[in-house]
Amino acid sequence: MLTVMKFGGSSVADLAHIRNVAQRCIEKQQAGSQVVVVLSAMGKTTDGLIATAKQITEKPSRREMDMLLATGEQVSVSLMAITMIQMGVSAVSLNAWQIPMHTTSDYQNARFKRIDTERIRKELDDNKIVIVTGFQGINRYDDMTTLGRGGSDYTAAIIAAALDADALEIWTDVDGFMTADPRVISTAYTINELSYVEATELCNFGAKVVYPPTIYPVCHKNIPIIIKNTFNPEGAGTVIKQEVSSPQSKAIKGISSINDTSLITVQGLGMVGVIGVNYRIFKALAKNGISVFLVSQASSENSTSIGVRNADADLACEVLNEEFAKEIEMGEISPIQAEKDLATVAIVGENMKHTPGIAGKLFGTLGRNGISVIACAQGASETNISFV
Ligand code: ADP
Ligand code: ASP
Ligand code: MG
Repeated sequence: MLTVMKFGGSSVADLAHIRNVAQRCIEKQQAGSQVVVVLSAMGKTTDGLIATAKQITEKPSRREMDMLLATGEQVSVSLMAITMIQMGVSAVSLNAWQIPMHTTSDYQNARFKRIDTERIRKELDDNKIVIVTGFQGINRYDDMTTLGRGGSDYTAAIIAAALDADALEIWTDVDGFMTADPRVISTAYTINELSYVEATELCNFGAKVVYPPTIYPVCHKNIPIIIKNTFNPEGAGTVIKQEVSSPQSKAIKGISSINDTSLITVQGLGMVGVIGVNYRIFKALAKNGISVFLVSQASSENSTSIGVRNADADLACEVLNEEFAKEIEMGEISPIQAEKDLATVAIVGENMKHTPGIAGKLFGTLGRNGISVIACAQGASETNISFV
């Protein structure tokens, strides 16, 4: 039995919390499991490091930022190992270059490439609890990288997959994956079971309880993810796995939202029936590194709307106006503008596909409450309806 246990910043905020987490990990080992612990930086350390660097300059070097940010997790893992050893247990802390954990070179937003498991396995075979820094890796120059804010979940998933763990436990500050963000919707409640597909859809749409790239590596190996509250360990929490037990369960599992979104519409009668307009839109955006999270096109083909982050909206308009400059000049396509500061909301559930009338109910409810929907999208998989 091998368990990977990941604890977020609030779970290791100070020494008292670290002792409490150490105790929980020791109990897991005593219950007969090998234990790898993945930790975030203590409390709001990462925010603090970013704020400090920004007092020096508004645009610090990305490489140096990763050197700086990677220190947060190194503090928490070493303090955890010191604590466990003091409690009489064999433990060792390892950082990204000791493992090593290789990533792409994109500082502050690196993606996993490969991991050596030899060192971790050797320490586990020596009966040690192995404590690993979340959030960080090394690139091909042996420089530190970080995986994007919230990235410790992703580290834990990669390690769980690489070691063929029996379970990945994510310990956080809420009672599991909930129907919505409890800080936004006070009546949100814990979802007991989610499929990998449902969890992925919710995370991609802003449910920050799990960092989006986390699900795929463990899903691929069919390792269950268990989300639990460090401050309420008796709570049932949430299990994310391949098949959820009751196909009769609720059609909609959860709602998530992203606030800082913009909608860009490319429209004009000159688009109707013309092949390649969408190809040109996505090519121009991709070439400029702009990610699109929602697409909606009317069957009349005279408009395509795309949802992007506010931060990308100006650049997106600029590259699209350039791409379609000729058509705009001829009056075939209207000049492209963004509607900014919109909210994009998604409702998610695999059983939506067996339940007619969900979209009707959704739009009826929004209409009755005076909320106008500017664009909406539903994929043919019918696991998600999103609207702006
Ligand atoms: P950690 O530091 O443990 O990684 P995070 O702050 O990254 O914790 O994630 C936990 C937070 O995610 C919760 O405090 C909650 O406000 C937020 N959250 C957003 N959507 C959801 C959701 N659907 N279910 C649970 N928590 C959510
Ligand atoms: N410490 C990092 C952050 O605050 C990574 C994490 O907590 O997952 O973003
Ligand atoms: Mg997190």
